[in-house]
Amino acid sequence: MVVRKIIICPCFYFLFILFAFFYPQKHLSTHKNKPQFEELPDKVAIQLNDTHPSIAIAELMRVLVDIEELEWEKAWQITVNTFAYTNHTIMPEAMEKWPVSLMEHLLPRHLRIIYEINHRFLLDVRKTHNEDFDRQCKMSIIEEGDGNKMVKMANLAIVGSHSVNGVSDYHTKLLKKEVFKEFHDYWPNKFNNKTNGITQRRWLKSCNPELANFISENIGDGWITDLFELKKLIPFANDNEFQEKWLEIKRNNKSRLARYIKKHNNIDLDVNSLFDSHAKRIHEYKRQLLNALHVIALYNQIKANPEKEFVPRSFIFSGKAAPSYSFAKLIIKLLNSIADVVNNDNDVKEKLKVVFLANYSVSLAELLVPATELSEQISTAGTEASGTGNMKFALNGALIIGTLDGANIEIKDEVGVDNIFIFGLTGDGIADLRATGYNPWDYYNNNPELKQVIDMINNGFFSQSQPDLFKPVVDSLLQNGDQYFVLADFEQFVRCQAKVAETYKKPNDWARMSILNTANMGSFSSDRTIMEYAKDIWNVKPV
Ligand SMILES: *Cc1c(COP(=O)(O)O)cnc(C)c1O
Repeated sequence: MVVRKIIICPCFYFLFILFAFFYPQKHLSTHKNKPQFEELPDKVAIQLNDTHPSIAIAELMRVLVDIEELEWEKAWQITVNTFAYTNHTIMPEAMEKWPVSLMEHLLPRHLRIIYEINHRFLLDVRKTHNEDFDRQCKMSIIEEGDGNKMVKMANLAIVGSHSVNGVSDYHTKLLKKEVFKEFHDYWPNKFNNKTNGITQRRWLKSCNPELANFISENIGDGWITDLFELKKLIPFANDNEFQEKWLEIKRNNKSRLARYIKKHNNIDLDVNSLFDSHAKRIHEYKRQLLNALHVIALYNQIKANPEKEFVPRSFIFSGKAAPSYSFAKLIIKLLNSIADVVNNDNDVKEKLKVVFLANYSVSLAELLVPATELSEQISTAGTEASGTGNMKFALNGALIIGTLDGANIEIKDEVGVDNIFIFGLTGDGIADLRATGYNPWDYYNNNPELKQVIDMINNGFFSQSQPDLFKPVVDSLLQNGDQYFVLADFEQFVRCQAKVAETYKKPNDWARMSILNTANMGSFSSDRTIMEYAKDIWNVKPV
């Protein structure tokens, strides 16, 4: 069996505990005398929190048909009306496929049930698309391929659920138009969006008490249970005294983080430098590499023009790699190696620092988020389903530098395009470039700054004792086609970062933008998300 990378999106966790106690067993015990299974969907909602638990659809069918002896059609109606499915990512490695050979051994009855579900489903599809074999193949739950049959768990989840949702407007649009296009053609009303959210109790009140108290002193504490109350901050955005206090709180949070970094990394950060954070799971699509290339470009700029004015920056990276994702681990190694060179070079000492914080966790995020001024949300357009880190940082007054991807798009619409730094190819731009033939060498050959950066990595500048160590990084960008369009976005990214630095020189402008980010985060509360799931999918009222 092939072991594939499974990269779990941290935004899954918030749905895990919902409705656990509502399992059919409970229904059975409370309706002992005469179980009314027709009522199960009215009493119970089971939300499939990604593709991984899709087998539950076959299991409920088994319980209803084999044990409770319901007729197939009745059992199927109950099952579909009970289940709903949330898709959390379009990364192919997360779209689970279970080998039929494995299921034959471990879950033979479930496999038979899945075959029956698929048989009846495809009969239905053929009523309207009899000639369209390609469509039938794409929609089939069973993938027939060179002797290696697979169960497509995402297809099982879609067929067995009455609701399928994505986690941002843009992600849901991609599900409808591309990833699950055939299913959307077939069942347009099954698809809906539920943009992710974060809880302000953890991600402002608890992790940033000084800012939380300052906000409450000025607009009251209604925001703790109704995040739209933060709109009341808007009139303060141009108030100089308010701005100064706002920046002072940020500086205090930066000092707190700097003490942690001194203790754990023995690196001294200047609290007057721009704190620029890139913290999330390490993955090529999240483009920590693009950020790394920018750091090296700034290093070269300082070395080439030592007298030139420069806005001091502290780059803080954090994130874990999945255990089997060796390339992500090489990216971590590169970030640490860049840090070793930069932090020990006296020519850039006062201007540039790079830190990699090990063991990224929620607790560490609670320290990092309030101290961050610039939040890196730079995934290749069309790859990040939503993101929730983007929301946490903005709620705490960080400005986003980001692509038009995931929930960044909705955040831009809320905070206003003047209060966010947007750069890079759009999803359509990426698709066009891919269609016409993307050649990363063109960007390498036409941009001397980019060429210098890549040559340094290639020549072992950051790995003196092992000159070939980072060759695979360069290969991924040049020989292997740069799957995530790092080189295509490099120039725009560098230009946008220069705009960030210019803005940072004007503290009042920066403070105004920062206040307006916090003020406009109302719709990114998980309270709003949960209310939408309750109303539109579970049909339950808040108690
Ligand atoms: C919020 C959070 C994430 C998700 O970050 P993204 O930027 O949305 O990928 C990952 N890890 C931890 C520890 C978090 O708190």
